Amino acid sequence: MPQDFQTCIAGSLPKPAWLSETRKLWPQWKAQGPELAQAKLDATLLWVKAQEDAGLSIIGDGEQSRQHFVHGFLERVEGIDFEHKVTMGIRDGRYDAEVPQVVAPVALKGRVHDVEARFLRAHTRHQIKFTLPGPMTIVDTVADRFYRDKVAMAFAFAALLNQEALALQADGVDIIQFDEPAFNVYMKDAADWGVRALERSAQGLGCVTAVHICYGYGIKANVEWKQSLGTEWRQYEAIFPALAKSSIQRVSLEFCHSHVPPDLMKLLDGKDVMVGVIDVASAAVETPHEVADTIGRALQFVPKAKLYPCTNCGMAPMDRNVALGKLQALAQGAALARERYLDRS
Ligand code: ZN
Repeated sequence: MPQDFQTCIAGSLPKPAWLSETRKLWPQWKAQGPELAQAKLDATLLWVKAQEDAGLSIIGDGEQSRQHFVHGFLERVEGIDFEHKVTMGIRDGRYDAEVPQVVAPVALKGRVHDVEARFLRAHTRHQIKFTLPGPMTIVDTVADRFYRDKVAMAFAFAALLNQEALALQADGVDIIQFDEPAFNVYMKDAADWGVRALERSAQGLGCVTAVHICYGYGIKANVEWKQSLGTEWRQYEAIFPALAKSSIQRVSLEFCHSHVPPDLMKLLDGKDVMVGVIDVASAAVETPHEVADTIGRALQFVPKAKLYPCTNCGMAPMDRNVALGKLQALAQGAALARERYLDRS
């Protein structure tokens, strides 16, 4: 019987300076060809060991093999022109990004993440989680010159995500998580069709299925956006009811240092909840006591058997040593919470 309060990261971890530029969302690689392929796996191994040493329960690849959490997938999709990227305001114009263009029907060129998923499976005995971008977030991170219909394009991508997700499951992945930060920006669309597109992406999976919905990486544009959201962030209120009714089993949300009213977690009744107990927008490393306190606040609204302490979001743009400290704080805080809140009789 696995212990309660199983810990894991949301997804990404900083890349070592020998692999790519650091502290950037779209860093340039420092090597090419076979040397780059090897360097990605070396960095993955480093973070597998670091997560295990920190004491995390569920292990990820830290997204060391992809330049960016969305574009890593898109690079293996036909019908996308990466040669002629355009600048587009994404997440409702919150910040500009250089995005590729969809110019023809999309199809997978082959497997996307087979190498790193099998490598991860081969190098840890823990449960492993693998992340994919969600269909709605993909649609928000490309320029559409072909479908001219957001929903149709989202379902086209959902079919490709499903193809890769089924293959990842066959590679031995225990938990497949789709990242949907766009849900928190387009709440009505998320409830109207985003959750359905997500379910299409997860269709037929027998492993655990999860979705991560956050307020973004700790970059300047996001920090400023959060400041504009007022004293109560109620975005989750508009999307959790649709998710609660969905077939997705686990929901990852931002909580630590956020203005999310904790009682919104009640809207996820019946789901596993990955509660963000580590702030990724601050370089201050939480103490285990702070982490345990945050878990305690979430416990008022999430049953202990369904509570999974997690980071608020990915840590890709952070300092490597800060991220390492936060992994340890997460594991130690969860251990303290087990002592405090679990009945051992
Ligand atoms: Zn996130």
